[in-house]
Amino acid sequence: MTRNQEAINTILELIGQTPLVKLQKITSQLKGRYYAKLEAFNPGHSSKDRIALHIVQNAEKKGILKPGDTIVETTSGNTGFSLAMIAIVKGYKCILAVSDKSSQDKIDMLKAMGAEVHVCPAYVPADDARSYYEVAKKLHKQHEGSIYINQYFNELNIEAHYLTTGREIWEQTKGKVTHVVIASGTGGTISGVGKYLKEQNPNIKVLGVDAVGSVLKKFHETGEFDESEISSYKIEGLGKNLIPTATDFDIIDIYEKVTDKEAAFKAREIVKTEGIFPGYTSGAAMQATQQYAEKGYFDDNSVVVIIFPDHGSRYMNKIYSEDWMKKQGFL
Ligand code: PMP
Repeated sequence: MTRNQEAINTILELIGQTPLVKLQKITSQLKGRYYAKLEAFNPGHSSKDRIALHIVQNAEKKGILKPGDTIVETTSGNTGFSLAMIAIVKGYKCILAVSDKSSQDKIDMLKAMGAEVHVCPAYVPADDARSYYEVAKKLHKQHEGSIYINQYFNELNIEAHYLTTGREIWEQTKGKVTHVVIASGTGGTISGVGKYLKEQNPNIKVLGVDAVGSVLKKFHETGEFDESEISSYKIEGLGKNLIPTATDFDIIDIYEKVTDKEAAFKAREIVKTEGIFPGYTSGAAMQATQQYAEKGYFDDNSVVVIIFPDHGSRYMNKIYSEDWMKKQGFL
């Protein structure tokens, strides 16, 4: 047991320093060594604890957030959970605009964490008044003394991962990491980790994961925001129907797109082969890793770190439900 810590004052002190675990079986046919960074070990069970804490602490330092004030955010669920947790510990109110694509488990969890939750339709344009972006902006205006976390357009999102996740991967691999494979939503994780690692060693390759139905890959390759790329898909937290400024596209070498079905099966395969119970985007990242391997990106000397952003318990009514899998036509 390496997580041997003394008693701490609040749960927030457990944010970060997540474990890096060597994958044993699922990658046995692939060239190189593979490690999963288990972000579910954060106290809010996802990588989003890092950005939530960093952005809140920054606002406190600037004096724009005082006890009793309100935090407003758009979220697919994980950032909301992290913010709700931080709000309880630090004495803030938390109001969240959540997409109706988020699993019911996630929405119930946010309510259980004391947040005020506004559920918004997922399949409307980002600038539609009903979208979760616009609803959050409206709630922010309505609540005096509130801050809007704005994770898609907040450079502190990148900075949080630059300061923590990137450095941890460098240290945990003793500088041997050659590739990272990272799901891109807001882009904060891939951009912050990529920036830190490329500063240490410019040869490290930053491999992105996007969803079929999202605009990110094409925008990265052509600079074009192509609306015809947009279609509905089931994976939460991966890909986008807009271009977030929290993504530094210059840091990312390439994107690979994955389908709902392959990502779901890959997540279930991770459980069966590794005993790790990951979220849907972890399956997506693992699937993309396999696709990159098939395209010849890795050799025997590769040390590949794959970020597993959250925990499978958030998807019991989705990829870990036989009924849901059948309804999607996956089983
Ligand atoms: N996976 C999950 C489950 C997420 O909630 C998110 C955040 N939207 C991501 C991956 C992507 O991380 P980022 O926003 O830093 O790109």
